[in-house]
Order: sequence, then structure tokens, then C-alpha cells
Amino acid sequence: MVKNIAIDGPCGAGKSTIARTLAKKLGYIYVDTGALYRAVGFYALSKGAKPSNAEDVVPLLSEIDVNIAFVNGEQRVFLNGEDVSEKIRTPEISMAASDVSAIPEVRKFLFGLQLKIARENNVIMDGRDIGTVVLPNADVKIFLTASPEDRAKRRYEELKCKGADVTYEEIYSDLLKRDYNDSHRETAPLKKAEDAILVDTTGFPFEKSVETLLGVILSRLEGK
Ligand code: C5P
Repeated sequence: MVKNIAIDGPCGAGKSTIARTLAKKLGYIYVDTGALYRAVGFYALSKGAKPSNAEDVVPLLSEIDVNIAFVNGEQRVFLNGEDVSEKIRTPEISMAASDVSAIPEVRKFLFGLQLKIARENNVIMDGRDIGTVVLPNADVKIFLTASPEDRAKRRYEELKCKGADVTYEEIYSDLLKRDYNDSHRETAPLKKAEDAILVDTTGFPFEKSVETLLGVILSRLEGK
């Protein structure tokens, strides 16, 4: 039987870096589902569509083939055969992803791929609706959060490191906007699954977040 671990939470809570490290420790595959929404947002923008407008975006879905592959254990995202893994990491694509992700047809479009990967592999999958919608029977569910200021600071430092031309204020206001979008949409809003364990990493250094989550995961898996 494969094992599935779901990690949900708002943007900038450190889900991806923490989940990636945990996956290495556990020998699982790390699946970043946000990248799939980013790929759709990226395509919509490249076609001049307004990402928040379902009438613009839905007809494009039939032109899109999104897939992921693992290269040296790292997830790469392919959009119509092109590796767009780096191109989708901009603040503009973040907002576009948040916009397209509110469209029910987009969520349906990406659902099957996520489920297939989880059925075939031991995964740590991160996103917004993994524990609530995609993998409601996951072996372990975690809802990871931190204060908006902490999350904005981490995101800012991460983007700065990659050389992006951004300010803290921009990141902070985008994050509040995305938090609002993600938790107020009608379809699969960001919320903690009833049986998810809440972990708040405000003020935690990275290693402490990893240790805390690893402890939670191992004790849950043992109890299974
Ligand atoms: O996780 P990341 O910041 O890359 O996700 C980009 C956007 O994709 C999020 O703001 C959210 O709107 C959307 N998303 C989602 N469901 C997921 C993963 C991401 O709606 N499972």
C-alpha cells in the first residue's frame, strides 16, 4: 500500500521547502500541486486571456497538456512538452495561478493527474485542497501556517535570492490578496481538513519546522 501525506496551507508558509526536505528524509516523492495551477495561469497569460475570467480560460484547457516528471528527485513541470518549471515562479504568475485556480473547470482538469501520482507513489503532496478534496483519505494531513508577516518575509528572501526585482511591501500585499482569494473562492477553498494537524511555524527557524513536521508524520504513520 502506498502512503500519502497531505500538506495544505496559505502561500509562504514554507510548505514546499519543508515538504521537499521531508520527502528526501522519508524517501517519498514530493509533489508541488501549485506548479500545475501556475502552468495553467502561465498559459492563460501567454494567450492574452484574463486569468480570472472563466469564459477566457475554460476554452483554453483543451489546448493544454500539463504533466510532471521527476529529474534527480526534483519535480519538473511540462506545459505542452516545454519545461516551464522556472518560468512559472514570478509574482505575476502567482496571481494568475490564484485566479485560474478559482475556476471549477480548472480544478477538475488538474484533479486526475494529482490523484494518479498519489495512487502510484508514496507522496508528500502540498497545495490548498489536498487533505480536503484531492486526498481525503491521506494517511497524514497537516495544515501548515505562519503569520502573514513571517510568510511575506520568507517569500521575499526566497525571491531576492533568485534575483527577482521585488519589494517586501509588494510581496506582503500580494500575499494578503492571494490569502483572501484562496480562502474565499467557492470551489475547494483553502481550509483545514477536520482531521488535519495544525502546525504554526511563526518564528521557527527552518530546521525546527522540519523536525516538528517529521515528528508529527512519524507518530501518525506509526499509529496506522
Ligand atoms: O503553492 P503555490 O503558491 O505555488 O500555488 C499557486 C496558487 O495555486 C495558489 O495561490 C492557489 O490559488 C493555487 N493552488 C490551489 N490548489 C492547490 C495548489 C495551488 O488552488 N492544490
